[in-house]
Amino acid sequence: AVTAGLSMTGLRAANFSSGQGIAYMHESLYAAVGKRLTYILNIGARAMTKSTLNVHAGHDDYHAIDDTGFFQLFAKKAQHVADLNIIAHRIAELALTPGVIAQDGFLTTHLIESLQLPERALIKEFLGRPDDIIDTPTEAQKIIYGDTRRRIPELWDVDNPVMAGIVQNQDSYMQSVAAQRPFFFDHIKELTDYAFAEYEKLTGRQYERVMSYRAEDADYLILGQGSVVSSAEVVVDYIRETRGIKVGVVDLVMFRPFPSDLIGKLLKGKKGVTILERLDQPLAVDAPISREIRSAISMCVENGASKKDMPYPDLDSYKPNDIPALYSGSFGMGSRDLQPEGLIATIENMLPDGKHKKQFYLSIDFIRDVPYTPKQRAYQESIQDAYPNVKDLAIRGSENPNLMPEGAITVRFHSVGGWGAITTGKNLAMTLFDLLGYDIKANPKYGSEKKGQPTTYYLAAAPEPIRINCEYFFVDVVLSPDPNVFKHTNALAGLKKGGYFIVQSDKETPGEAWADIPEVYQKVIISQDIHVYYIDGFKIAREEATDPELQLRMQGIAFQGAFFAASPLMQNANLSEVELLKAINDQLQYKFGSKGQRVVDDNMRVVKRGFDEVHEIMDKVLGAGHEDKKNGETGLTIPTMMKSIPQSESKMSDIHRFWEQTGNFYLRGMGNDNITDPFIGLSVMPAVTSLFRDMTGIRFDHPEWIANNCTACGDCYTICPDTAIPGLVSELSGILDTVLTRVKKAHGKVEFLPKAVRQLEGKIRTQFKQSENGTTVNEHIHQAIDLLVRESDEGPDLAKEFDWFREELGDFQFALTRPYYDLHEKAEPNSGGLFSITINPTTCKGCMECVEVCDDDALRVVPQTDKSVER
Ligand code: SF4
Ligand code: SF4
Repeated sequence: AVTAGLSMTGLRAANFSSGQGIAYMHESLYAAVGKRLTYILNIGARAMTKSTLNVHAGHDDYHAIDDTGFFQLFAKKAQHVADLNIIAHRIAELALTPGVIAQDGFLTTHLIESLQLPERALIKEFLGRPDDIIDTPTEAQKIIYGDTRRRIPELWDVDNPVMAGIVQNQDSYMQSVAAQRPFFFDHIKELTDYAFAEYEKLTGRQYERVMSYRAEDADYLILGQGSVVSSAEVVVDYIRETRGIKVGVVDLVMFRPFPSDLIGKLLKGKKGVTILERLDQPLAVDAPISREIRSAISMCVENGASKKDMPYPDLDSYKPNDIPALYSGSFGMGSRDLQPEGLIATIENMLPDGKHKKQFYLSIDFIRDVPYTPKQRAYQESIQDAYPNVKDLAIRGSENPNLMPEGAITVRFHSVGGWGAITTGKNLAMTLFDLLGYDIKANPKYGSEKKGQPTTYYLAAAPEPIRINCEYFFVDVVLSPDPNVFKHTNALAGLKKGGYFIVQSDKETPGEAWADIPEVYQKVIISQDIHVYYIDGFKIAREEATDPELQLRMQGIAFQGAFFAASPLMQNANLSEVELLKAINDQLQYKFGSKGQRVVDDNMRVVKRGFDEVHEIMDKVLGAGHEDKKNGETGLTIPTMMKSIPQSESKMSDIHRFWEQTGNFYLRGMGNDNITDPFIGLSVMPAVTSLFRDMTGIRFDHPEWIANNCTACGDCYTICPDTAIPGLVSELSGILDTVLTRVKKAHGKVEFLPKAVRQLEGKIRTQFKQSENGTTVNEHIHQAIDLLVRESDEGPDLAKEFDWFREELGDFQFALTRPYYDLHEKAEPNSGGLFSITINPTTCKGCMECVEVCDDDALRVVPQTDKSVER
């Protein structure tokens, strides 16, 4: 509404939104068009929440407003985003129609990419001022405004007051709608072409409503919008070169008004055209672009069939042989990665010996060719029995080539959200750009949860533009600020032979650091001649950060120094240390200068130490450090707590079913390989799945419960986002019986203990009554045992059995609290229960929200150690 208001007062306005934001503003967009406003709506195109929340790329929001009357553009890369934005304002102000310019959410919006940024002076010259008086561009506008008009007309003008947004009934509403077609909308096409031509005159950069790549002589075309277009161009080059198949790419720059005239010309006579769309509309005849293309082609066919004048003179004329076979593919929804393999599948599907699937999905599987487990095989068979053709809904390509340009260097980071990896990645990308003048591409991959979760960052630099847009499967360097990376990810995946791996380690010697790498990965490192380095980035950040808040964030910065020291880049590019440090310093000044010199200096010292303190592991002996372990491989164990949870009657809420079909794959680091089955279609999760997660790998501290301070207020277990801190009230007799049962299980028959334990309860309760401040429940129990042993005739024999009892009791803590002990004792003596809080050692992610809400100092932060986890 604010943007519309600005526009109504004759100002140049723009809005930026995406996803649900677009859905919420949907209604207001129609009115903006009807009022002939001239603002531009930028969309970082995102998937809409359907069954589940996803904030990543999708074209749902873009197509949700297809028929509001906005003209719609889509940019495939940063350069196009910048240029088309400026051009869009020009079109809107000429046509008096607001416009949309979209780019792929995250995949383009969050991508660092080289571009020529249009200068302010250029923008000023091209767009002029909103209050410039210009020649009125169309006849209809001349009828309203005369031969000249204000560049952005004022709807709110005190000198010429009008009422807008009025009510129109049966008498006049329809005329007001119909008038918009000939007098306004029909002019957009020619005014767009005019604006493109004007921009080209100034910049040399040429745009058209539909752009193409190697399409002229092509037999087959891939048509799409957004970042997929650039990837398709590289794949097309590769397929032409390796297989001699003539393939081309069509970039649908403008969706509204639909460029039927240009599409008709481009597609005529092709053998096959695949339209790739980053959405799915299963109830429609076709996806949005496909629908338009079929309509455009049918008009061309009507032209061809006409005996007299062509009914659609702007469009081409088709004879039956000119009609291409059309295919429709859904891909990349919610930023699902699309590898070259998927685009190759698209091409192979169209070839004479291809599958010719008319509608298909890329990069997912309904049925896996090779199931991961016998249970998955059986499950897949049950799905295939019910849906024999479901497998063919997804298609796969026959290869997945590395399509990075010659001389490119590709880097992958493995870190944890909140540790500064994204800042490091950005700085590194910008430094490479400054140092080498290379084209760069860098982008993060993370989920919506971000903080505390594994994060991946991709970075590439190359002497020529990098067109491919996907996760990198072939990398030269892997940086892992995450010391536990191997517990959840194969950090060596795709690392090239002779590549470089740099990992965070607090170990003193190379031998110890090597021993931390599981044997299965040691084997890969040795067979692939991978250079391994380690660095204690945490120690460096701790010692150098003057602001303790920044310690975690600055750990990643040390890796920037380590990267240059370890990788051969400096040597290959003939760079001195002085040049390198200057470029890094410039980058830090640019990035952090506004925060003060201290922040820049802190970061610089961390980078420098990262450079100096990275060590190479030279002595790489398979199995070294794992002599006392089985094979160094972290086997997959079923979460302990699951064993005690019974199978649910409903499959939907059954945690065991969920573990088999979904949970275990995440724990193996294979969450990406979920199959497309009926359960995922429903996307609900059974309760307590948090117990699948093992957070020990990404947690350095955890809370510790101080029983004697606890008041059992319940705030901690109410706030915990992961149900990792359950509170429990137990009867004293129940606790003693449980310990006794455990003793019997561990030591077989016990002679004196059963009788003694019955007496113990009374003694403990007496102890409680005489309680002095500071004595814990466990101390009371031990004191009561001592007393009982002293008073007993069985002496050493009973003492021995009580030693077993103490052992089984361990240091599990209990608290005497007002709500569960005092109040109950008051109402009925000996009825008070013991309160206990346990922190689940695997599922607690260390967010410390429980510590923050505890007002009684009953939860404190302690460092995680092997012992503390075991306990
Ligand atoms: S640990 Fe703190 S927050 Fe939790 S129940 Fe005890 S007093 Fe309340
Ligand atoms: S630290 Fe966070 S996850 Fe762990 S028990 Fe406390 S609130 Fe729960």
